[in-house]
Amino acid sequence: MSAHLLRFADTIDDYAAARVAILGVPYDRTTSYRPGTRFGPNAIREASWNFESYLFDHGVDLRDIDVFDMGDTEEFGPVEEMYDEVHSTAGSAIRDGKFLLTFGGEHSISPPILTNYPRDIGVIVVDAHLDFRNEYLGWKNSHACASRRFADHVGIGSVMQIGIRSVAREDLEDAKGLDFIDAYYVADKGIDASIKRIEEKLGKKKIYLSIDIDGIDPAYAPGTGTPEPFGLSPLQVRKLIVKLSSRLVGADIVEVSPQYDNGNTAALAARLAREIIATRHPSYR
Ligand code: MN
Ligand code: MN
Repeated sequence: MSAHLLRFADTIDDYAAARVAILGVPYDRTTSYRPGTRFGPNAIREASWNFESYLFDHGVDLRDIDVFDMGDTEEFGPVEEMYDEVHSTAGSAIRDGKFLLTFGGEHSISPPILTNYPRDIGVIVVDAHLDFRNEYLGWKNSHACASRRFADHVGIGSVMQIGIRSVAREDLEDAKGLDFIDAYYVADKGIDASIKRIEEKLGKKKIYLSIDIDGIDPAYAPGTGTPEPFGLSPLQVRKLIVKLSSRLVGADIVEVSPQYDNGNTAALAARLAREIIATRHPSYR
């Protein structure tokens, strides 16, 4: 772990006592369009200080939930090095019984976290992009392959993506059994019907939640590498978090790219992180 002065708001100094662990992975080497998500973790941390610790809508004070900020991983070169190091760093926190909440970085950082969990869980991915290529620019662990790698671990029938509005033709090759909730379905039928589809597909499985911030409309989240119009609203994603909270085993928020941001994207990511943390309160279990 690198030394860090900046940490997420309302965290404690005692790793052993913490029930939630935050990890930053400032990695953006496979990014296809415009890099910059390496600056995401600290932008999210900085934005986290602007909020009240008491979330009246949850009836929860975040100071009553013990959260430890592990800081950032080292900066990695090749994607294989990142994959192995993130897998082992995340794995030690998960084995220590922490609810791990990771900030990217690009979406390629998420599969090595997931592979620490049992194969019988479900994965929910909030994303504009299907990310289902088997490889991209020669990399199997490119951010454009994130959901395909999730499916490698839990099976294609246990991954549900929501907010999709960008699908590459190659995404659909060998993708039998793939089922996703596109952004137009959410707009037409609403978030409750969408959550129902997720619940029908994933049954009673535990859930890992991966939030690619570009799943949310660029009007709310402009600070990202590949913005895509027609996205989800922040409140729809909040509802998804709250409704599924009792089944969550871990989560990440990725693809926040501060140099394209007016501050809103980092603030939204920080706020979504605080929603996830709030639902770790015993009153939610
Ligand atoms: Mn993605
Ligand atoms: Mn995306």
